[in-house]
Amino acid sequence: MSDLYQAALAAQKNAYCPYSKHPVGAALRTVSGKVFAGCNVETAHYIAIHAEASAIAAMITAGEREVAEIAIVGPYDGLCSPCGDCRQRIREFCDKMTVKVSVYAQDGKLLKTYTIDELLPDSFGPENLAGL
Ligand SMILES: [Zn+2]
Repeated sequence: MSDLYQAALAAQKNAYCPYSKHPVGAALRTVSGKVFAGCNVETAHYIAIHAEASAIAAMITAGEREVAEIAIVGPYDGLCSPCGDCRQRIREFCDKMTVKVSVYAQDGKLLKTYTIDELLPDSFGPENLAGL
C-alpha cells in the first residue's frame, strides 16, 4: 500500500469537519522526498481549508516548494477528486505538469491517477504573469 495513502489516511482521521461531515486527507511528496500531510479544517462560517491546501501549507511552512506527487483519501468509496481551488493550488507548486494526483478509496483502493495537466488543462500559472 502506498506510503502517501497511509499518510493521507492518518491525516484524514484528524479532519475537523463538523458541518460537512466529509473528512478528507491528503499527503504529498516533495521533489526532495519529504512527505507532508493535511486534512480539511472547517469553521462555523463555512469557509474551510481543504486537505490538499492544508498539506501544501505544511510543505510551505517547512520551506519546501515543489510537489512531486500527491495522494487524496475521501470519506467513501467514490472518487473524491480535488476541487477547482485545490487543483489550482496544487498546480502552483508543480514544476512539471506531469505531477501525479492519485485518489484513493477509504480502504486504500486506488481509484484514479491524474496528471495535474489532466485536472487543470491549459492552466494559468506563475509563468503566465508578465515579467516572469
Ligand atoms: Zn479543495
